[in-house]
Amino acid sequence: MRYEDLPKWSAQAASWAAEYHASLRERPVRPQTKPGEIAAQIATSPPDAPDEIEEIFDDFKRIIPDGMTHWQHPRFFAYFNSNAAPASMLAEQLSNAISAQCMLWQTSPAATELETVMVDWLRQALGLPNGMQGVIQDTATSANLSAVLTMRERAVEWRGLMQGMSGIPALRIYASTQTHASVDKAARLAGIGQENLIKIATDRNWAMRPEALREAITADRAAGLLPAGVIGCIGGTSIGASDNLREILSIARDEDLYSHVDAAWAGSAMICPEFRPIWDGIDLADSIVVNPHKWMGANFDCSVQFLRDPTCQIRTLCIKPDYLKTIEDDEITNYSEWTIPLGRRFRALKLWFLMRAYGLDGLRSRIRNHVNWTNQASAAIAQLPGFEIITPPKLALFTFRFAPEGNNADAFTRLLLEKINADGRIYLTQTRHEGLFVIRMTIGQFDTTKEDVDVAIHVIGEIAKSL
Ligand SMILES: *Cc1c(COP(=O)(O)O)cnc(C)c1O
Repeated sequence: MRYEDLPKWSAQAASWAAEYHASLRERPVRPQTKPGEIAAQIATSPPDAPDEIEEIFDDFKRIIPDGMTHWQHPRFFAYFNSNAAPASMLAEQLSNAISAQCMLWQTSPAATELETVMVDWLRQALGLPNGMQGVIQDTATSANLSAVLTMRERAVEWRGLMQGMSGIPALRIYASTQTHASVDKAARLAGIGQENLIKIATDRNWAMRPEALREAITADRAAGLLPAGVIGCIGGTSIGASDNLREILSIARDEDLYSHVDAAWAGSAMICPEFRPIWDGIDLADSIVVNPHKWMGANFDCSVQFLRDPTCQIRTLCIKPDYLKTIEDDEITNYSEWTIPLGRRFRALKLWFLMRAYGLDGLRSRIRNHVNWTNQASAAIAQLPGFEIITPPKLALFTFRFAPEGNNADAFTRLLLEKINADGRIYLTQTRHEGLFVIRMTIGQFDTTKEDVDVAIHVIGEIAKSL
């Protein structure tokens, strides 16, 4: 294939994309495929002679779409949505066309400068303090690891980077029991260790208990351990729990601990001022992660980490071999010094297209609808015979169980979930909450309508009746 062939094939890809999206409601959300079925249709070795693009494209259409879970399906109510608004897809296509490696200002001046401006647009949209800076990461997992590494190095005055961690007392990091597993992974990978990530008990509302946090820090210091940081949870993945940030981040400040807030999903909703009480106190955070690639509509991957003062993280992650030095270094930003990977894609473009093509009002109205419909769906499911809401709506997420009298509720709820997902009209996933197997329902797909939500409630009721 040559560049001259791009217009033809790009146009075909674009038409295919539009038809694919228009056909989603007719497709099962999850594929009806068994493990190994797709691989069995693909040649086991690469061809020596070139294949025609036409043939490759045909194989794509024949094999791939029916073997995919359709994340952009309007009846995808599982996990957290990973949206891809059409305007962001278009931007991604242009970013592909340029295919720059955006590690340094010099390797990508426009991408670097657009990133600075887009992070600031998003900061304003979310109501974060003036002067907060930030960087676009691939995922919240990377942002969480970057923050934990920064906590570690700040606590040991940047000795760990050169000398390793031997001879240093055990570091301690504090988070609630509702924290995402990527924080556990960060503690493991940062050499802090799972056992030194202290999970603080939560209150009735599943928020970290501030007095328990203070007690844990005091006890650790008394035991000769080295507290390093506090991680706040806003919109936890299991049931949408949020910490009382004002209290716990004030404790972090009093104790001179670095703080990071994981708002990967719920952060997008903060473009609506009426939801901001959920993260009251966010202005006290040293670091915050929000994933526009979840609820907001920027296609994967696009995770924004905000930093009150990037110096600590840069001091932790920056390494400058001679071959990466450039002459303008004093006047410019090299974002690869803020992140773990050196290589960086041009991700700012899709934020620019997204925020302009829908306006914040367009993005807000979607999120407001999702939250309203979630409240309505929870109320409707509570009315179905044998159903029980286990955790109430937190923004656009709630959990429920199905336990007709005299039956094992875990087994029945699991069976209901399996039947719903085999049916294909909607897609839901589960979590375990306080020992109970529960079904999570989240509403957050960019094109979901109230009718789609009504279909979901209908399907859940219908399948429950048939059990
Ligand atoms: C989804 C999620 C993550 C992980 O996000 P990735 O960008 O996929 O790494 C982390 N924390 C929370 C609270 C999440 O909801």
